[in-house]
Amino acid sequence: MSMHTGTVYLVGAGPGDPELLTVKARRLLDDADVVCHDNLADDRIVESCPETTERMYVGKRPGPDGERTTQEEINCLLVRLAREGKDVVRLKGGDPTVFGRGGEEAEHLAAAGIDFDIVPGISSAVAAPAVAGIPVTHRDHASSVTFVTGHEDPTKAESALDWDGLAATVRAGGTLVILMGVRRLPDNVTALRNAGLPEDTPAAMIEKATRDDEFTVTGTLDTIVERRDEVGIEPPAVTVVGDVVSVRDRVAEFLEGAPSVGVPSFADAVVSERGVE
Ligand code: SAH
Repeated sequence: MSMHTGTVYLVGAGPGDPELLTVKARRLLDDADVVCHDNLADDRIVESCPETTERMYVGKRPGPDGERTTQEEINCLLVRLAREGKDVVRLKGGDPTVFGRGGEEAEHLAAAGIDFDIVPGISSAVAAPAVAGIPVTHRDHASSVTFVTGHEDPTKAESALDWDGLAATVRAGGTLVILMGVRRLPDNVTALRNAGLPEDTPAAMIEKATRDDEFTVTGTLDTIVERRDEVGIEPPAVTVVGDVVSVRDRVAEFLEGAPSVGVPSFADAVVSERGVE
């Protein structure tokens, strides 16, 4: 029994590529007693921890039973481990505070009197568009960017998102980045169209950015749902809506990295590579 209480580090793992970990994250992973990770933190990063480091999976399990660790269980686990004297890395995909519940865990730790630190990570909200050749801001195209969850049901009366307002920011030249929005893409696109965004507004989806199977598809609000289905875009993916998507067309040919569709010159070849007729 130790009287020493450990520290909990809420650490961003970045979008996937282990080289996109921060130097600080790397050091904390190497020094931690326990690493608590979920399914968004890339396996390669979790596997790179020293063999002696205890690894605990606390994410949503993809199995048919849909079993998952609840946020309350995670909060309690972090406190318990720290009280056992362990230094804990709570590893989260991207940045811990961008749709990552890092704020909730921080509040819980503070309320329990546990020392903690927040170690920012590279968020997929910026990085996924970036690696696909889409800058979320650009002097000629976008002076603002808005990050939203696509998980909300836009048709429910108490939707936390103001889709009319979001459409207005895009119309005014802003960029909209939707996380967690693969399944509800049709609802979200309809909401934006109903709010008056033109059907030719550029849109893109970037799946598994910075991982081996990264894939990008581009289109417009009129075509993006069909394009998603054609190439079989699966979570995790980020959707970008706005003029900045057009920048990709001018740079993609020279962009090292994973395949994609939407750039006319190589779209057909890549669609067949993805197993689409
Ligand atoms: N904290 C994370 C976001 C967590 S919410 C971050 O800052 O990146 C989960 C959503 O993040 C996914 O539904 C997807 O929209 C996005 N996401 C995470 N990793 C991604 C990746 N490698 N490529 C594309 N989207 C990703």
